[in-house]
Amino acid sequence: MSKAISYFQQNRERIVELLEELVKLESPSLNKPSCDKLAIFLWDQFTSSGIKATILEQQKVGNFLRVEFGQGEEQILVLCHLDTVWSLGEVKRRPVRRQGEKLYGPGAYDMKGGICLALFSLKAINELGLSLDKRVVIIINSDEEIGSHSSRPLIEAEAKASKAVLCLEPSLPGGKLKTSRKGVGVFTLRIKGRAAHTAGDYDQGVSAIHELAHHILRIHKLSNPRRGLTLNVGRVEGGTLSNVVAAASEAEIDLRFIEPANGEKIAHQLYNLRPRLPGISLEISGGINRPPLLPTPQNQKLFKRVQEIALSELNLRLEGGMSGGGSDANFTSALGIPTLDGLGVDGDGAHSVDEFVLLPSLVERGALLTELLVRL
Ligand SMILES: [Zn+2]
Repeated sequence: MSKAISYFQQNRERIVELLEELVKLESPSLNKPSCDKLAIFLWDQFTSSGIKATILEQQKVGNFLRVEFGQGEEQILVLCHLDTVWSLGEVKRRPVRRQGEKLYGPGAYDMKGGICLALFSLKAINELGLSLDKRVVIIINSDEEIGSHSSRPLIEAEAKASKAVLCLEPSLPGGKLKTSRKGVGVFTLRIKGRAAHTAGDYDQGVSAIHELAHHILRIHKLSNPRRGLTLNVGRVEGGTLSNVVAAASEAEIDLRFIEPANGEKIAHQLYNLRPRLPGISLEISGGINRPPLLPTPQNQKLFKRVQEIALSELNLRLEGGMSGGGSDANFTSALGIPTLDGLGVDGDGAHSVDEFVLLPSLVERGALLTELLVRL
């Protein structure tokens, strides 16, 4: 049996306790003080295990953590994020709890479980005395759930120095790795019309809400779900009172796509929206945030090697699948660096109140990551 499997079996309770701690330390992407606190907690976890870790101070978002382990010419980059989509207080409403082989709690599956795997795989290599002929760099950012605007340059620079990127986002429910991900765009449409009282001078008004209604229908029609292309107007705002013709309105649009050309085409169409009613002005902002993660030849080669290692060392059959969401792996794959995502924990319910981690996956995936870091 793999030494790594026994290590993770023996340490399972410690890992679960760490995961519970991480969930309790809430870390909404937009709350810098909370994310900073978690970054310090993690820094302490790594350094007290004799692993080099550096806090990277940030102005706008929570501080990042950079971990460096081992020595060698080659580098493997491991990606984690410490932020969650949950606001402060969620863990009071939904305390972390174990039920059989599941652990429930906000952010446990996406992706505090993955952080536990990263830490314990390095500890396993240390404590088992496994030989590592390369450098492992782990980046834990704090703005992944809001688009990684601050961390993207760092992630891309580290990726360019790496021969492979392993992203510890959770696996697809059921354990499949994420071998492709859709590209993501976010756009805001702002419309200005002219206010008027509906009683006296209705004719003088130009409704920004009426205008927006036209665009919502058109935008939704651009979707082609069969080709993996979807547009969603997910937030609208506008007007003041029912007896006032609305002077302003606004909509936020989410775009998901598989083929890069489709994403570009839609972005172009959105930027070319023109007013339908006389007297309207409109403005569109935003753009494509994450390019798609595609099964490129270099990604497929890495996945094949990972499947071989999983089978020979852990008797584990790994499959791949597609995720509709983007991650930081999209950035590194688009640079042409061999990238594999979904190597974090198994479970289900990311971004939902039913989010859980399957505890046995902490052992299985921890051992897998350890074997990969050593053997890739
Ligand atoms: Zn995530």
